[in-house]
Amino acid sequence: MTRLEHLAALLGEAPPELRPGQVWLVGAGPGDPAKLTLEALAGLAQAELLVHDELVDPRILALAPEGAERRFMGKRGGQPSAKQADIIAALVAGARAGKRVVRLKGGDPYVFGRGAEEAMALAEAGIPCRVVPGLTAGLAGLAAAGIPATLRGVSQAVTLATAHAPDGAADALDWSALARLGQPLVLYMAMRRLEAIAESLLAAGMPPGTPAAVVRAATTAQQQVLQTTLEDMPGAVRAAGLAGPAVVVLGEVVRARALLAPGAA
Ligand code: SAH
Repeated sequence: MTRLEHLAALLGEAPPELRPGQVWLVGAGPGDPAKLTLEALAGLAQAELLVHDELVDPRILALAPEGAERRFMGKRGGQPSAKQADIIAALVAGARAGKRVVRLKGGDPYVFGRGAEEAMALAEAGIPCRVVPGLTAGLAGLAAAGIPATLRGVSQAVTLATAHAPDGAADALDWSALARLGQPLVLYMAMRRLEAIAESLLAAGMPPGTPAAVVRAATTAQQQVLQTTLEDMPGAVRAAGLAGPAVVVLGEVVRARALLAPGAA
Protein backbone atom coordinates (compact mmCIF):
# COMPACT_ATOMS: atom_id res chain seq x y z
CA MET A 1 0.00 0.00 0.00
CA THR A 2 1.17 3.53 -0.64
CA ARG A 3 1.28 6.05 2.21
CA LEU A 4 -1.87 7.64 0.87
CA GLU A 5 -3.69 4.31 0.77
CA HIS A 6 -2.61 3.61 4.36
CA LEU A 7 -3.98 7.00 5.32
CA ALA A 8 -7.21 6.41 3.45
CA ALA A 9 -7.65 3.19 5.42
CA LEU A 10 -7.05 5.06 8.68
CA LEU A 11 -9.30 7.98 7.82
CA GLY A 12 -12.08 5.86 6.43
CA GLU A 13 -12.21 8.02 3.31
CA ALA A 14 -9.93 9.43 0.65
CA PRO A 15 -7.32 11.73 2.20
CA PRO A 16 -7.79 15.38 1.25
CA GLU A 17 -6.14 16.25 -2.04
CA LEU A 18 -3.30 18.73 -2.19
CA ARG A 19 -4.22 20.27 -5.52
CA PRO A 20 -1.80 21.68 -8.08
CA GLY A 21 -1.43 25.40 -7.42
CA GLN A 22 -2.45 25.01 -3.81
CA VAL A 23 -0.32 25.58 -0.69
CA TRP A 24 -0.71 23.60 2.51
CA LEU A 25 0.70 25.37 5.54
CA VAL A 26 1.55 22.35 7.64
CA GLY A 27 2.48 22.14 11.32
CA ALA A 28 5.21 19.54 11.83
CA GLY A 29 4.80 19.38 15.60
CA PRO A 30 7.58 19.84 18.13
CA GLY A 31 10.12 17.44 16.65
CA ASP A 32 9.33 13.77 17.10
CA PRO A 33 7.88 12.45 13.81
CA ALA A 34 5.32 10.50 15.86
CA LYS A 35 3.70 13.82 16.76
CA LEU A 36 2.76 14.57 13.14
CA THR A 37 -0.94 14.57 12.33
CA LEU A 38 -2.40 12.26 9.70
CA GLU A 39 -3.36 15.33 7.68
CA ALA A 40 0.25 16.56 7.77
CA LEU A 41 1.37 13.17 6.52
CA ALA A 42 -1.20 13.34 3.70
CA GLY A 43 0.15 16.74 2.66
CA LEU A 44 3.77 15.60 2.75
CA ALA A 45 3.02 12.48 0.75
CA GLN A 46 1.57 14.64 -2.07
CA ALA A 47 4.13 17.46 -2.04
CA GLU A 48 5.98 18.47 -5.18
CA LEU A 49 7.64 21.49 -3.56
CA LEU A 50 8.46 21.35 0.14
CA VAL A 51 9.54 24.61 1.76
CA HIS A 52 10.64 23.97 5.29
CA ASP A 53 12.02 25.47 8.49
CA GLU A 54 15.23 24.60 10.24
CA LEU A 55 13.54 22.87 13.16
CA VAL A 56 12.10 20.05 11.06
CA ASP A 57 13.46 16.51 11.56
CA PRO A 58 15.02 14.94 8.42
CA ARG A 59 12.82 11.88 8.94
CA ILE A 60 9.79 14.13 8.49
CA LEU A 61 11.25 15.69 5.33
CA ALA A 62 11.78 12.16 4.04
CA LEU A 63 8.01 11.59 4.06
CA ALA A 64 7.67 13.68 0.89
CA PRO A 65 8.08 11.79 -2.39
CA GLU A 66 11.68 11.25 -3.43
CA GLY A 67 11.30 13.49 -6.46
CA ALA A 68 9.85 16.42 -4.50
CA GLU A 69 11.90 19.58 -4.45
CA ARG A 70 13.01 20.40 -0.89
CA ARG A 71 13.91 23.96 -0.11
CA PHE A 72 15.20 25.07 3.29
CA MET A 73 13.89 28.55 4.03
CA GLY A 74 13.91 28.91 7.72
CA LYS A 75 14.54 31.22 10.54
CA ARG A 76 17.63 30.79 12.63
CA GLY A 77 17.40 32.89 15.77
CA GLY A 78 20.18 35.47 15.71
CA GLN A 79 21.74 34.21 12.46
CA PRO A 80 21.17 35.20 8.86
CA SER A 81 17.95 33.60 7.72
CA ALA A 82 15.57 33.63 4.82
CA LYS A 83 13.62 36.86 4.61
CA GLN A 84 9.89 36.54 5.12
CA ALA A 85 9.29 38.23 1.73
CA ASP A 86 11.50 35.64 -0.01
CA ILE A 87 9.64 32.76 1.65
CA ILE A 88 6.31 34.18 0.53
CA ALA A 89 7.66 34.80 -2.99
CA ALA A 90 8.83 31.17 -3.20
CA LEU A 91 5.42 29.89 -2.11
CA VAL A 92 3.59 32.14 -4.55
CA ALA A 93 5.91 31.24 -7.44
CA GLY A 94 5.59 27.51 -6.71
CA ALA A 95 1.82 27.68 -6.58
CA ARG A 96 1.60 29.83 -9.74
CA ALA A 97 3.77 27.26 -11.52
CA GLY A 98 1.05 24.74 -10.72
CA LYS A 99 2.98 22.79 -8.12
CA ARG A 100 1.54 21.07 -5.07
CA VAL A 101 3.23 23.10 -2.36
CA VAL A 102 3.77 22.24 1.29
CA ARG A 103 5.09 24.92 3.62
CA LEU A 104 6.24 22.94 6.64
CA LYS A 105 6.69 24.75 9.93
CA GLY A 106 7.69 23.59 13.39
CA GLY A 107 4.94 23.12 15.96
CA ASP A 108 1.65 24.73 14.99
CA PRO A 109 1.80 27.06 11.99
CA TYR A 110 -0.25 29.74 13.71
CA VAL A 111 1.67 29.85 17.00
CA PHE A 112 4.63 32.28 16.95
CA GLY A 113 6.01 31.02 13.67
CA ARG A 114 4.81 33.80 11.37
CA GLY A 115 2.61 31.26 9.62
CA ALA A 116 -0.38 33.56 9.78
CA GLU A 117 1.57 36.21 7.87
CA GLU A 118 2.32 33.65 5.17
CA ALA A 119 -1.33 32.57 5.00
CA MET A 120 -2.47 36.20 4.74
CA ALA A 121 0.04 36.92 1.97
CA LEU A 122 -1.19 33.85 0.07
CA ALA A 123 -4.79 34.98 0.52
CA GLU A 124 -3.87 38.41 -0.83
CA ALA A 125 -2.21 36.76 -3.83
CA GLY A 126 -5.38 34.74 -4.43
CA ILE A 127 -3.65 31.41 -3.82
CA PRO A 128 -5.72 28.70 -2.14
CA CYS A 129 -4.19 27.67 1.16
CA ARG A 130 -5.09 25.02 3.70
CA VAL A 131 -3.78 25.23 7.24
CA VAL A 132 -2.90 21.95 8.90
CA PRO A 133 -2.61 22.45 12.67
CA GLY A 134 0.26 20.88 14.56
CA LEU A 135 1.16 20.20 18.17
CA THR A 136 2.73 23.34 19.57
CA ALA A 137 6.00 23.08 21.52
CA GLY A 138 4.62 25.04 24.46
CA LEU A 139 1.97 22.42 25.18
CA ALA A 140 3.34 19.15 23.78
CA GLY A 141 6.80 19.99 25.11
CA LEU A 142 5.45 20.44 28.60
CA ALA A 143 3.63 17.11 28.50
CA ALA A 144 6.80 15.43 27.24
CA ALA A 145 8.63 16.84 30.25
CA GLY A 146 6.05 15.63 32.77
CA ILE A 147 4.50 19.05 33.30
CA PRO A 148 0.74 19.47 32.93
CA ALA A 149 -0.16 22.78 31.26
CA THR A 150 -3.17 23.06 33.56
CA LEU A 151 -3.96 21.28 36.80
CA ARG A 152 -7.24 21.39 38.63
CA GLY A 153 -6.85 23.17 41.94
CA VAL A 154 -3.47 24.59 40.92
CA SER A 155 -4.13 26.58 37.75
CA GLN A 156 -7.09 27.68 35.69
CA ALA A 157 -5.36 29.31 32.78
CA VAL A 158 -2.14 29.08 30.86
CA THR A 159 -0.43 31.87 28.98
CA LEU A 160 1.66 31.21 25.89
CA ALA A 161 3.92 34.16 25.25
CA THR A 162 6.95 35.11 23.25
CA ALA A 163 9.72 37.19 24.68
CA HIS A 164 10.83 38.07 21.18
CA ALA A 165 9.57 41.39 19.88
CA PRO A 166 9.62 42.27 16.14
CA ASP A 167 12.98 43.69 15.03
CA GLY A 168 13.62 46.98 16.72
CA ALA A 169 10.23 47.04 18.45
CA ALA A 170 10.00 47.72 22.16
CA ASP A 171 9.00 44.81 24.37
CA ALA A 172 5.23 45.06 24.20
CA LEU A 173 4.48 42.53 26.93
CA ASP A 174 3.08 43.73 30.22
CA TRP A 175 5.24 41.50 32.45
CA SER A 176 3.65 42.74 35.65
CA ALA A 177 0.17 41.77 34.40
CA LEU A 178 1.52 38.30 33.58
CA ALA A 179 3.14 38.04 37.00
CA ARG A 180 -0.08 39.08 38.74
CA LEU A 181 -2.11 36.38 36.98
CA GLY A 182 -0.59 33.76 39.23
CA GLN A 183 -1.07 31.21 36.45
CA PRO A 184 1.51 29.22 34.51
CA LEU A 185 3.46 31.15 31.95
CA VAL A 186 4.98 29.40 28.93
CA LEU A 187 7.60 31.34 27.02
CA TYR A 188 8.82 30.72 23.48
CA MET A 189 12.03 32.20 22.07
CA ALA A 190 13.11 33.30 25.52
CA MET A 191 16.57 31.77 25.86
CA ARG A 192 18.57 34.82 24.91
CA ARG A 193 16.63 37.10 27.22
CA LEU A 194 16.32 35.03 30.38
CA GLU A 195 18.06 37.54 32.64
CA ALA A 196 15.86 40.43 31.57
CA ILE A 197 12.72 38.31 31.75
CA ALA A 198 13.49 37.03 35.25
CA GLU A 199 14.28 40.57 36.35
CA SER A 200 10.98 41.90 34.98
CA LEU A 201 8.94 39.14 36.59
CA LEU A 202 10.71 39.46 39.97
CA ALA A 203 10.25 43.24 39.89
CA ALA A 204 6.55 42.65 39.18
CA GLY A 205 6.23 40.54 42.32
CA MET A 206 6.40 36.99 41.02
CA PRO A 207 7.80 34.99 43.96
CA PRO A 208 11.53 34.21 43.50
CA GLY A 209 10.92 30.57 44.41
CA THR A 210 8.33 30.06 41.65
CA PRO A 211 9.08 26.65 40.13
CA ALA A 212 10.56 26.92 36.64
CA ALA A 213 11.54 24.47 33.95
CA VAL A 214 13.38 24.80 30.68
CA VAL A 215 12.50 22.12 28.16
CA ARG A 216 14.98 21.88 25.31
CA ALA A 217 14.44 19.95 22.06
CA ALA A 218 11.18 18.67 23.50
CA THR A 219 9.95 15.27 22.28
CA THR A 220 13.23 14.50 20.46
CA ALA A 221 16.02 12.12 21.50
CA GLN A 222 17.98 15.24 22.54
CA GLN A 223 15.30 16.43 24.96
CA GLN A 224 16.71 18.01 28.12
CA VAL A 225 14.76 19.36 31.06
CA LEU A 226 16.22 21.70 33.61
CA GLN A 227 14.12 22.28 36.70
CA THR A 228 14.90 25.33 38.78
CA THR A 229 13.22 28.42 40.23
CA LEU A 230 12.52 31.84 38.78
CA GLU A 231 15.41 33.52 40.60
CA ASP A 232 17.94 30.76 39.86
CA MET A 233 16.87 30.16 36.26
CA PRO A 234 19.27 32.44 34.31
CA GLY A 235 22.31 31.18 36.24
CA ALA A 236 21.25 27.54 36.09
CA VAL A 237 20.70 27.72 32.33
CA ARG A 238 24.08 29.34 31.83
CA ALA A 239 25.79 26.77 34.05
CA ALA A 240 24.16 23.92 32.14
CA GLY A 241 25.08 25.49 28.80
CA LEU A 242 21.51 25.08 27.57
CA ALA A 243 20.58 26.77 24.30
CA GLY A 244 17.43 26.84 22.18
CA PRO A 245 15.11 25.63 20.89
CA ALA A 246 13.56 25.56 24.29
CA VAL A 247 10.39 26.53 26.05
CA VAL A 248 10.41 28.00 29.51
CA VAL A 249 7.60 27.33 31.94
CA LEU A 250 7.05 29.15 35.18
CA GLY A 251 4.45 28.14 37.73
CA GLU A 252 3.34 25.68 40.38
CA VAL A 253 2.41 23.11 37.71
CA VAL A 254 6.14 22.40 37.33
CA ARG A 255 6.10 20.65 40.73
CA ALA A 256 3.98 17.86 39.22
CA ARG A 257 7.14 16.62 37.50
CA ALA A 258 8.17 14.98 40.74
CA LEU A 259 5.41 12.45 40.15
CA LEU A 260 4.93 12.60 36.39
CA ALA A 261 8.56 12.44 35.23
CA PRO A 262 10.15 9.50 37.05
CA GLY A 263 13.66 10.33 38.20
CA ALA A 264 13.08 14.07 37.82
CA ALA A 265 14.66 16.42 40.31
N1 SAH B 1 5.24 27.31 15.68
C1 SAH B 1 6.11 26.77 16.71
C2 SAH B 1 6.87 27.86 17.42
C3 SAH B 1 7.84 28.61 16.52
S1 SAH B 1 8.79 29.81 17.37
C4 SAH B 1 5.25 25.96 17.68
O1 SAH B 1 4.01 26.03 17.63
O2 SAH B 1 5.82 25.23 18.49
C5 SAH B 1 10.24 28.88 17.76
C6 SAH B 1 10.27 28.58 19.25
O3 SAH B 1 9.45 27.46 19.53
C7 SAH B 1 11.63 28.20 19.79
O4 SAH B 1 12.40 29.35 20.09
C8 SAH B 1 11.24 27.47 21.05
O5 SAH B 1 10.88 28.37 22.06
C9 SAH B 1 9.98 26.74 20.60
N2 SAH B 1 10.25 25.36 20.16
C10 SAH B 1 10.07 24.85 18.93
N3 SAH B 1 10.37 23.53 18.91
C11 SAH B 1 10.73 23.21 20.17
C12 SAH B 1 11.13 22.00 20.80
N4 SAH B 1 11.22 20.85 20.15
N5 SAH B 1 11.42 22.04 22.12
C13 SAH B 1 11.33 23.19 22.82
N6 SAH B 1 10.97 24.35 22.27
C14 SAH B 1 10.66 24.37 20.97
